[in-house]
Amino acid sequence: MSLSANDRDKAGDAGIRWDQPQDHRTTVDSVYIRLRSMIHGGHLSPGDCLPPERVLSEMLDVSRSSLREGLAVLRAEGYVEMRRGIGGGTFITELDVAYARWLATMAADSDLLREIIDVRTAVETQIAWLAAERRVDEQIDEMRSMLDVDGKSLSAQEFRDIDSRFHRMLAEAAGSPRLLALMQSARGELFTPASSLLTSSPTIARSHEEHRDIFAAVAAAEPELAATQMRAHLQSTFNDVALAVADSTANAAHS
Ligand SMILES: [Zn+2]
Repeated sequence: MSLSANDRDKAGDAGIRWDQPQDHRTTVDSVYIRLRSMIHGGHLSPGDCLPPERVLSEMLDVSRSSLREGLAVLRAEGYVEMRRGIGGGTFITELDVAYARWLATMAADSDLLREIIDVRTAVETQIAWLAAERRVDEQIDEMRSMLDVDGKSLSAQEFRDIDSRFHRMLAEAAGSPRLLALMQSARGELFTPASSLLTSSPTIARSHEEHRDIFAAVAAAEPELAATQMRAHLQSTFNDVALAVADSTANAAHS
């Protein structure tokens, strides 16, 4: 097939790149994005050691040189550090530097955070809607027992685990692996380390209640209500993060 100049212009207008390179650079970016997303999501925490290079490159299905370059970017951004010698390896840092950097990126482009939350809202309100329509009894039982704890007693790490499991369980109940993948990619862009203000007790207790409201609507098989509760939950998440971003710029101005 050959394309006329006119066709190519039309494709360009639609934002399609025919020459999109699926090359080394793309692989390095994907290593960076996947690992960063696991750190952002709390699946990798400060002090955790990554598997050895050979194992990790197999797990991610990339060459060792792509892996090394991806890790170099993560190191430059303060997510990981290399320790040499016995007991050495690649470790997740305390994340203070990475978090400050992430907040600064969000502060520098005020639309960025809004866009990330827009995507999450589009994807996760639909997930909540479908979960209310399609969930089966075992899923309801599993969610109920997980959420049946006092929000005020949860540690930051416990809350993060519940948060990521609950959103995932909803996506599974919605029965759409593609929505699940989109959700995980959007969630991976948000960063709320366990040490951040976003994981203070009042915020945790409030978010936990919001999860229970979403769950109640899903359990009651009320799709519209479930979607509305999810929208409200993501709006308060947006407000929390926006506040943290504003605080960080205020602090930077004073230091
Ligand atoms: Zn949540």
